[in-house]
Amino acid sequence: MDRKQILQWLRENEDRRLEPLWRQADAARRRSVGDEVHLRGLVEISNHCVRECAYCGLRAGHRQLNRYRMSADEILQCARQAVAFGYGTVVLQSGEDPGLTAEGMADVVRRLKAETPLAVTLSLGERRDEDLVRWRAAGADRYLLRFETSNRELYASIHPPLGAALERRPWHGLRPCLGGRLAILRRLRELGYEIGSGVMIGIPGQTYDDLARDLELFRELDLDMIGVGPFIVHPATPLAEEGAARCAVAGADQVPASEPMTYKVIALARILCPQANIPSTTALATLNLARGREQGLERGANVIMPNLTPLPYRVLYEIYPAKACLRETPQMCHACLQTRIESIGRTVGVGRGDSPRYRGGWTAGPSRAKKGTAPFPQQPGRVQPPFSLPRAIGGEPSGHPGTATSRAVAGGTPDVPGWKEVV
Ligand code: SAM
Ligand code: SF4
Repeated sequence: MDRKQILQWLRENEDRRLEPLWRQADAARRRSVGDEVHLRGLVEISNHCVRECAYCGLRAGHRQLNRYRMSADEILQCARQAVAFGYGTVVLQSGEDPGLTAEGMADVVRRLKAETPLAVTLSLGERRDEDLVRWRAAGADRYLLRFETSNRELYASIHPPLGAALERRPWHGLRPCLGGRLAILRRLRELGYEIGSGVMIGIPGQTYDDLARDLELFRELDLDMIGVGPFIVHPATPLAEEGAARCAVAGADQVPASEPMTYKVIALARILCPQANIPSTTALATLNLARGREQGLERGANVIMPNLTPLPYRVLYEIYPAKACLRETPQMCHACLQTRIESIGRTVGVGRGDSPRYRGGWTAGPSRAKKGTAPFPQQPGRVQPPFSLPRAIGGEPSGHPGTATSRAVAGGTPDVPGWKEVV
């Protein structure tokens, strides 16, 4: 599918004409990843964050928010619950929190791997290279880091630089930029993580061209996991104030942050990346609690992430208001999701639900299948990921020495069609 066809689907609004897209996505899902819906238990381990993302309620500047950080024992307790429910994966997510130290997190991962059979997914933001290395060595399996938008200017406008005091500390040497985030994704792949990324849909100022390019970038990055969801306004963020003006500038090209648009992006992601694990996200359920999750599953998704965060913390992990299932206990979520999955003729997945590339031996992508290659970078003869970065990224600072950005950028070559448009 080329850019023109992607754009045609994104701009199609007639229900009847969208039916073939839903059918094609559902068939691709069945063929490539089957009827199982994998459940990943989500634990929101800290809402501390040093970043100032203009869209997110956890941003450092939101001073009215009460902050929490879970203890290792609390996290382990949630993971035991995931095992009891039969889940194969636990996802540990947080704001970008230096209080989650490299060694502390490595201990948590080691304990999880020693005490449970769970796959461990981390979603802790942009961390130093040594942290990512350490957590992988401790046994972490996967890492999620959305690139949010492939439009470099839009990315920069919603990821303001960190305060000067923070930038002086080595931890925070990275100035936010799209190229830096993509470099971290590449580094994660090199380290042997399954990598996940994604975007928000309908960011004020995001055009149809941007979104089509996002979808193409999913394919170029050859992602194992793709998470997409609608942008939802949080009143205590800069985008709540600037949103209308930005949308006015984009005019008819502005992508709506709507439920139908989210289904279209899920369906197109499935067709472009048939083997990826794609969740029907909480943000979608927030827009349509009655049927959002099911319709996501019927239009390309194969994963759901039930929330295992203890209730007192869950209400404080407010990235946007009125998140779905904010007050349901993990037991209630579990029973509800099982019923919903069965109601659409699907089955709850058994086991870890690894990316097909890891199950069948790591490869550099469907077109270069090479069975039996282990997912570790030190392995001789390892196949390079199918994307790389130019030596300098758009003139932007590449981070302090030793960060994922500075290392990943050095020596890269712009060898992917269309890549230069992004970086
Ligand atoms: N701090 C980590 C990071 O940024 O990668 C992980 C946690 S962050 C809350 C996870 C995701 O939430 C982000 O990648 C972003 O796409 C999404 N998010 C944040 N604010 C949002 C909003 N207002 N509407 C929809 N999604 C949002
Ligand atoms: Fe922090 Fe992540 Fe929210 Fe940005 S999106 S403010 S890094 S929690």
